[in-house]
Amino acid sequence: MIQRPRGTRDLLPPDSRLWQGVEDAAREVFSAFGAEEIRTPVFEATELFVRSVGDTTDIVHKEMYTFPDRKGRSLTLRPENTAGVARAWIENRLHDRSHPLRLYYIGPMFRYERMQAGRYRQFAQIGLEILGADTPLADAEVLLALAEFLARLGFDDLVIHLNNLGDPEDRERYTAVIRETLSPQRSSLCADCQRRLDENPLRVLDCKVPRCQELAAAVPAIDDVASAASRDHVNAVEEQLRRLGVAHVRAPRLVRGLDYYLRTVFEVVSPRLGANTVLCGGGRYDRLISDLGGPVVPGVGFAIGEDRLVEVLPEAFRSRALASPRLYLVPLGTAAAARSLELARDWVRAGVPVELEVSGRSLKAALRRADKDGLAFVAILGDDELQAGVVSLRDLARGEQERVAVAGVPAWWQGRQA
Ligand code: AMP
Repeated sequence: MIQRPRGTRDLLPPDSRLWQGVEDAAREVFSAFGAEEIRTPVFEATELFVRSVGDTTDIVHKEMYTFPDRKGRSLTLRPENTAGVARAWIENRLHDRSHPLRLYYIGPMFRYERMQAGRYRQFAQIGLEILGADTPLADAEVLLALAEFLARLGFDDLVIHLNNLGDPEDRERYTAVIRETLSPQRSSLCADCQRRLDENPLRVLDCKVPRCQELAAAVPAIDDVASAASRDHVNAVEEQLRRLGVAHVRAPRLVRGLDYYLRTVFEVVSPRLGANTVLCGGGRYDRLISDLGGPVVPGVGFAIGEDRLVEVLPEAFRSRALASPRLYLVPLGTAAAARSLELARDWVRAGVPVELEVSGRSLKAALRRADKDGLAFVAILGDDELQAGVVSLRDLARGEQERVAVAGVPAWWQGRQA
């Protein structure tokens, strides 16, 4: 038997309803903040990610699905989507439009991850970016949209962890501070961090190995070393979050696994997923587009891990999303069956979701099935009903049955859904 590749999943009903519910909420909330959807390719030139995400990051170093196409060009399945959005900005000359532009995306990303809980090799991200504004207000708006989206899903226990990563000019100074602090302990760091200390010391702060985290605690906060302008910026973002009552804390050693961030960086962790499992990550990336050869366009945004989000969805949202009321139309006999599709068509057109019994079940078998599958409303169409131009509508939960004219079914349905 052929099996799906490791780290991938089949999303089956009814779980797929949870994903739809989450995505509907994202579209609603983000478009209410003036964002529009962008869809970029699932694969891009490998160089895009090497140059944006950074060639010493874990993602580029060991997690990309990279392959030559038939003409030998190196392509990579996107491990994240901010780089693709930046590339699209440059290529489509979005700079010529009035900006800022608020863009959101929903789609699959690919990383060759070691298998562990909450990590998949194909996973979905929901992201929002504001491109073309460099103010703290833009950062705060992105965070507000994030908080509103999470509140729409019913979360009330999520906290934004926020840090100042400083400006790129501060990076060298800070890198030297990290090396100075950690070099004496070099041999106690994990093998990856020993390499990171040479190649990209900032990444050591991101290591999930407990011993590395202990040692990293001795490194001064980036904020202490960062430029005054970057500090003012992030403080202003924080001030806005305070005004809005958006739950947040300062996390002085928070860095993200991608090289393009500067100034504001943030993460959302769920108490239900454990401290190392991040639900959402984001930040400001004012040099990304210019580093890729485009104009200077500041940007700020985030990506939410949809797989993890669905895992910890609050119960109320979950049960609402899983509920899928339909009218189960059961025709009894050949004449009724012949008429049934017309009824289904008319009711669907009038906004009634219909599930037609197409397997020819008897009334008894159909009612057993309705009970088993939670189809609480059944429309029975026998010869009698057919003659009279009615259906017998049964409400299984209330144990009631009544005959309703075929044309009256939509009104009956709407009454039951209120
Ligand atoms: P990043 O692009 O690394 O900042 O990740 C943003 C979010 O995507 C994370 O907070 C996770 O929720 C999610 N994510 C990243 N990698 C994976 C993965 N391998 N499996 C599931 N979710 C992931």
